[in-house]
Amino acid sequence: FQHNEETMSQTKFNVRKVAVLGAGVMGAQIAAHLVNAKVPTILFDLPAKEGNKNGIVLKALDGLKKLKPSPLSNKDAVAYIEPANYEDHLHLLKDCDLVIEAIAERMDWKADLYHKVAPHLGEHTIFATNTSGLSINKLAESCPDSVRPRFCGVHFFNPPRYMHLVEIIPCVTSDAGMLDNLERFLVSTLGKGVVRAKDTPNFVANRIGVFSMLATIANAEKFGIRFDIVDDLTGPRLGRPKSATFRTADVVGLDTFAHVVKTMDDTLPGDPWHGLFKSPEWLQKLIAAGALGAKTKVGIYKKD
Ligand code: NAD
Repeated sequence: FQHNEETMSQTKFNVRKVAVLGAGVMGAQIAAHLVNAKVPTILFDLPAKEGNKNGIVLKALDGLKKLKPSPLSNKDAVAYIEPANYEDHLHLLKDCDLVIEAIAERMDWKADLYHKVAPHLGEHTIFATNTSGLSINKLAESCPDSVRPRFCGVHFFNPPRYMHLVEIIPCVTSDAGMLDNLERFLVSTLGKGVVRAKDTPNFVANRIGVFSMLATIANAEKFGIRFDIVDDLTGPRLGRPKSATFRTADVVGLDTFAHVVKTMDDTLPGDPWHGLFKSPEWLQKLIAAGALGAKTKVGIYKKD
């Protein structure tokens, strides 16, 4: 990475090593997608309270191996993933060309982590968040000045191995050359289709997708239609066998879904549809009971 005095733009380089922060639903699957493409990846999470400090990551990797079909499609892929935790391994970040943050959708938790991580980033490291819709400019405020030109949103969709789209969301300080380097990597190495989105609440796809889920849920409640019937109507009967309203919420994670809805509620007060942007009471009850969807095996649906 060099600063060209005239353009102050990052020079062209190839991403050779990546760190993913957060081994949850998205982080673990993004890491799997990277190693399937033979990109060495360090997967971080909080240190486990008991036993092996990398326990959270190891459990996530185990979960990936058990999924059918496993997102680790290449049998050698797992050898490219290095498990890590924020207590012991932050020094490893300096060798990563790209760091993707994929921890829970909470501005305050992400800000805390950025303070912890920023001093360890290499001089040229691209630092990108997988947030579903939090403000990238606001998140950039938690990065030091030296990191802000290398910060942006990189929004993968769930499940990342099947979803072609990735949104890149620049913040006002994002360096143009850095964005080009990131886009080239996503397209050439990971085979993604990239859309550059503005830093508006939930960006493009979630603004439409979550709106449509909330409108469907509101109508289901209004007309008393059972969730599985709604899913049949909005899934297979529309020719989308894997995608339907309530099942999608389970796959996303009900807590994450509720956070995304809250972002819309908080940031779009003048929207004519603002009344829709609330988590229904039954959703809040499920979350309070720890029924978070596929990741806890019970949510709106139960998974065996
Ligand atoms: P998740 O709840 O499955 O996993 C979150 C991970 O963050 C966990 O492994 C947890 O241990 C870790 N974590 C929690 N608090 C932390 C903290 N204070 N510091 C560091 N790590 C912490 O969440 P997810 O669904 O993987 O979502 C991760 C990010 O990706 C969020 O920003 C979310 O909005 C976004 N996203 C989610 C989806 C989806 O479908 N789930 C899709 C696209 C983007």
